[in-house]
Amino acid sequence: MPGEPQDDCLFCKIVEGHVPATIVRETQTTVAFRDINPQAPTHVLVIPRAHYENVAALAAADPDLAADVLREAKAVADEDKLESYRVVFNTGPGAGQTVFHVHAHVLGGRGMQWPPG
Ligand code: AMP
Ligand code: ZN
Repeated sequence: MPGEPQDDCLFCKIVEGHVPATIVRETQTTVAFRDINPQAPTHVLVIPRAHYENVAALAAADPDLAADVLREAKAVADEDKLESYRVVFNTGPGAGQTVFHVHAHVLGGRGMQWPPG
């Protein structure tokens, strides 16, 4: 069922507290935690508690929940006093997605290049 926890999903396990993470914010619908392999001084992942494979599936199934994730991305940036930051949803293996539970990367605290790699 879309949105249901998946036994083999690392981020569902973080939501359930079965895998440790450095959690920075929690709401009824989302969890934000530090990336284990940070690519910038601020590198936080914001996920919905519900399991969706990627941002396209999330936005199609539950636009309000997609908005919750974006609102929390801003809250993370505000907490770290970031004026400029990047929000990234890698979508599909060819774009670098490795964990198939939708997550917003919130990256900031250093200069950034465009286009990304
Ligand atoms: P992506 O490649 O866009 O799917 O991003 C997955 C991200 O999850 C990577 O940046 C990883 O460093 C991060 N990651 C993997 N395992 C963990 C973990 N146990 N706790 C926190 N972040 C993780
Ligand atoms: Zn999941």
